[in-house]
Amino acid sequence: MNVAEEAFKELFPERVLPRIEIKYSGRFKDYNSNVTYRGDNFSFGLSREWEDVDASIVKGLIQHLFLKIHRKKISTMNIDLYNSFMKNLHRGIKKDKSDPFLEASFNRMNDMFFSGTLEKTNLEWGSHSKAMLANYNFHTDTIRMSKYFINAPAEILDYIMYHEMLHKKLKFKNSGGFTSHHTPEFRMLEKQYPGFKSMDNKIKAHLRSKRKPVSSIKSRPQIKAEKNTLLHWIRRLY
Ligand SMILES: [Zn+2]
Repeated sequence: MNVAEEAFKELFPERVLPRIEIKYSGRFKDYNSNVTYRGDNFSFGLSREWEDVDASIVKGLIQHLFLKIHRKKISTMNIDLYNSFMKNLHRGIKKDKSDPFLEASFNRMNDMFFSGTLEKTNLEWGSHSKAMLANYNFHTDTIRMSKYFINAPAEILDYIMYHEMLHKKLKFKNSGGFTSHHTPEFRMLEKQYPGFKSMDNKIKAHLRSKRKPVSSIKSRPQIKAEKNTLLHWIRRLY
């Protein structure tokens, strides 16, 4: 039995073993993975890094993906191992990306909310995007900020930076195959930002004031995605 078959057997002991294959591929980066299936044939694609990871953790990853497909909540020791592996990945990642403007914001928020104890992350500007204002990628330990916030008032930049830093700090809660990033604890801490209640309107006003770069003519799905993200920030649904 390969590790994927073992993973399946442990989750669904009463079921007939399907055909399962694992392919390690250079197409994936940063510990990414996916699963495709047709009928009873499952194919797992894992980035090359997974080849060097302990089998007990890979088994957890496979189980995590199986549960995602089956929309089931089951806890296993291997899934716990996998989750803590993913949460600690950032420790081994090189911190070589930064930007003085972003770093200043990171440091201000680190001092104000984390007593300066939050470990440095990679910091970078993303594209001119209103669909993705900012995000924290825990695979690469990187906070990426939309270029719409270049030269934004510190109050706005810091608020968004703080939000992403909370993602780094709190990671995510996992129950079964379901992942939650904006937990009640997250929301509670986020509210500690000075003037929290007015921030959504300030972000909205800032984005309205920013002209789109001439080169970006947008498709309909893009425009829809932007509206949806604004709703995340404005109505706090994300
Ligand atoms: Zn968020």
